[in-house]
Amino acid sequence: MHIMMLASECAPIAKVGGLADVVAGLANELARRPGVEVEIVLPKYAGLDYAGLVDCRLIWEHLPVPFFDRTIDSRAFEARVRGLDPALRLLLVEPRSEHRFFDREDLYGYRDDGPRFAWFARAALELIRATGRHPDILHCHDWQTGLVPVLLYEEFEANGLRGSRACFTLHNVHHQGVVGVDVLRQVRLDPGRLMTPDRLLHHAGGGGVNQLQGGIVFSNTVTTVSRTYAEEIRRTELGCGLQRLLERYAHKLEGVLNGVDDAVWNPMTDSYIEKQYDIETIAHKADNKKALRKRLSLADVSKPIVAVISRLDRQKGCQLMKHALYTSLRRGAQFVLLGRAPDPAIDEEFQAIKREFSGNPDCHFELTFDDELAHWIYAAADLILVPSHYEPCGLTQMIGMKYGTVPVVRRTGGLAETVFDANFSDRGFDEVNGYTFADEDGQAVDSALVRAIGLWYQHPEYFRKLQQNGMRYDSTWRARADRYLELYRSILGW
Ligand code: ADP
Repeated sequence: MHIMMLASECAPIAKVGGLADVVAGLANELARRPGVEVEIVLPKYAGLDYAGLVDCRLIWEHLPVPFFDRTIDSRAFEARVRGLDPALRLLLVEPRSEHRFFDREDLYGYRDDGPRFAWFARAALELIRATGRHPDILHCHDWQTGLVPVLLYEEFEANGLRGSRACFTLHNVHHQGVVGVDVLRQVRLDPGRLMTPDRLLHHAGGGGVNQLQGGIVFSNTVTTVSRTYAEEIRRTELGCGLQRLLERYAHKLEGVLNGVDDAVWNPMTDSYIEKQYDIETIAHKADNKKALRKRLSLADVSKPIVAVISRLDRQKGCQLMKHALYTSLRRGAQFVLLGRAPDPAIDEEFQAIKREFSGNPDCHFELTFDDELAHWIYAAADLILVPSHYEPCGLTQMIGMKYGTVPVVRRTGGLAETVFDANFSDRGFDEVNGYTFADEDGQAVDSALVRAIGLWYQHPEYFRKLQQNGMRYDSTWRARADRYLELYRSILGW
């Protein structure tokens, strides 16, 4: 089976959040299976971490990618990604045009994001066709690749990609890639045929093109990243206006929980951290804690560390993070936050707190994206807080668990499926692994956080048990990739 993943992120070379981990982790697991060939296609961002590429070479010098009534002369490269399975190939497409679509500092956040990724959708398919590839599966991720299934159905299936089937994964339906109708003319799709409510016409009015909707309607199967989120987006406002459409396509929608890539997130083999450890040697976390404290100028005292590692976005519960900071300090814990806020207003809120607490020996804010520091914090912290408003799957809680860091999470989406409360879940003594709360207010956060900090102080042996239960929780991609293979086979009719 030949699978091509089309995405806007891939860890570790182009990462903003969990999408990158999922694309790399799932592709890596699939590439290890006999008889499965996997390739990933990404835009060739200027900001890509080029040091993470191996044997990068030009494979296509002049790829004409249709763009309105002309074409953009484009290039394609092939490489492997350091740390991922050598069998896994990465293809990068690069436009040579005055728009400089990917010659920017960041991956997203530009006014022309819609046209940028629409270009990528068409370019990826042009590359596949031009190089004579015949993938069985095009696995597309989020709105950035939403036009791929549309283009496949409308044009490429009859012309070059006969037999290819599309799987579309929804990582976050809050972002739908709504753009002006011109984007269809840009990629040479017919607005007359497609701009209807049951196809690409944006559900909320305004006459725009909804790229995520296109991916849902035109794919052979649609997955999202947990069963709970699959329900939530069909039945609650978390569907962000797509509820009716998702209900209509419920027969082809399935929640498959994300996994965590063992090769990247594993305290036993992690080359970033001070001292490696596993479930038997978990006491070595103390060395990592000491190292982190030194690095961040925190007091080296007998206190638990509560950590947040997150994009700082309203989705992630920014207000509750701030509340948790005060509770943690009051209850005798230290608080470390690593986060980046793309929104300047949110950034300023956190900068203000950082200033307020500067010099405090029990608190550190690092307002940036730093993969290496994230590894250090997972290895050093005692508790990891994820107070999300909604969370399709969430990786931080699962990564935390692998590092023996006990999650304290809001019971929503994938968080509800992976974290089992020490006191209030129906799971057994060997399965409970963290603390959960339901409501979105400070009192609710405290109801979980205070219990967690209290346990650390009063019952260290039971705290250790929670850590070990978390480390034993199976978050590997193995079973989850099996499910994807079954889905692929079913849409191929194999
Ligand atoms: P989302 O995809 O919504 O951002 P997830 O929990 O699925 O959330 O994935 C987040 C991923 O991004 C994790 O691998 C986490 O460690 C990483 N991450 C988030 N913020 C940062 C940051 N500021 N620095 C380094 N890594 C980060």
